[in-house]
Amino acid sequence: MPNSLLKTSAVMNTYSRFPLTLVKGKGSFVWDDKGEKYLDFTSGIAVCNLGHVPDAVYGKVQDQLQSLWHCSNLYHIPAQEKLAELLIQNSFGGQVFFCNSGAEANEALIKLARKHGAEKGGSNKIATFKQSFHGRTLATLSATGQEKIQAGFSALTNDFIYLEFNSEEALQQLKELDTSAVLLELVQGEGGVVPADQEWVNKLAEICSEKEMLLMIDEVQTGMGRTGTLFAFQQYGIKPDAVSLAKGLGSGFPIGAIIASTEAAKVLGPGTHGSTFGGNPLSATAGLATLEYMVQNNAAEAAQNLGNYLLEKLAELKSKHIQIKDVRGKGLLLGLVMDTEAGPLVNRLREEEKVLALTAGPNVLRILPPLTASKEECDQFIKSLGNILAEA
Ligand SMILES: *Cc1c(COP(=O)(O)O)cnc(C)c1O
Repeated sequence: MPNSLLKTSAVMNTYSRFPLTLVKGKGSFVWDDKGEKYLDFTSGIAVCNLGHVPDAVYGKVQDQLQSLWHCSNLYHIPAQEKLAELLIQNSFGGQVFFCNSGAEANEALIKLARKHGAEKGGSNKIATFKQSFHGRTLATLSATGQEKIQAGFSALTNDFIYLEFNSEEALQQLKELDTSAVLLELVQGEGGVVPADQEWVNKLAEICSEKEMLLMIDEVQTGMGRTGTLFAFQQYGIKPDAVSLAKGLGSGFPIGAIIASTEAAKVLGPGTHGSTFGGNPLSATAGLATLEYMVQNNAAEAAQNLGNYLLEKLAELKSKHIQIKDVRGKGLLLGLVMDTEAGPLVNRLREEEKVLALTAGPNVLRILPPLTASKEECDQFIKSLGNILAEA
């Protein structure tokens, strides 16, 4: 039962918070203010992909803390330039813009698409998809294809056309629409852990290239190894014009980014976009240490292997418990479709088993272990979930 009104009255009531106060984390575990230990299969919602307080990031951030915390983007920032270099080496070339969050990264994509449209002398409309999630700022909630996110916040930015995800009809509509770009998640996260179909994505990418529309992928949740490749677009074998990143990029330090092809990035020249904190020395150092570790240690491959293991165990659970209707997702972005609301399951896991998990939409239990979790920790999760389901 959320008791946010009692505990956090000075903080605005925009979240229904769980009655739990976390004060410490290490690896796959967190501790509350009473010293109780929890297995954290939320990773701070796909943020702490290397687990909590990862050594590989801690040391580098500590060094940076002693030298320079912040300087303006009017000056060169070495960690930011190295991080950009490493991002383009490990994606599709191009150039990087840094900001502070997922919504802000998607705002940059939206500005890029508008400018692209304007320079072509065409439409500035962007196609997005139903059940998507792109953020909470006015432009990104307008891009989000969910009425519950938009309710009460009109007027929306009416640049967006919402198409059906994974639908052939949507592809036909896209062929006829006058749009400058398409923005999508390759696994819809908040919308219920729904992966895009490979064939559908192939056709979508083809239409984008035929019509010179920007193919923009929101990798805020799917990026940074989460789905078993560093970026989800890599396993789909497509080349986007631009992607947005945030959540896992800084291991918990606020940082967002977009990567855009050199061609697409051209439209954002000096004075067209900016951010005071974007990629500042501290967050860029955290991002660089995170990405270096991921590349050197094949963190994405580890996520793929552990994801396969967990998927197998979840499939076994499904065969024993009729409450589970489906198991889906990619890598370590996994969802269990339940025959009832998933919220009570999240609460019982936390209260009775000391295990943290999430929902994604009303009926989906969302499972986001750190990419560095062990098989034993996965076994512990499965055992806990099995216990709860057996009693239900
Ligand atoms: C979380 C999320 C966002 C928003 O990121 P914020 O950092 O909360 O602004 C955007 N897109 C996707 C796919 C997300 O999962």
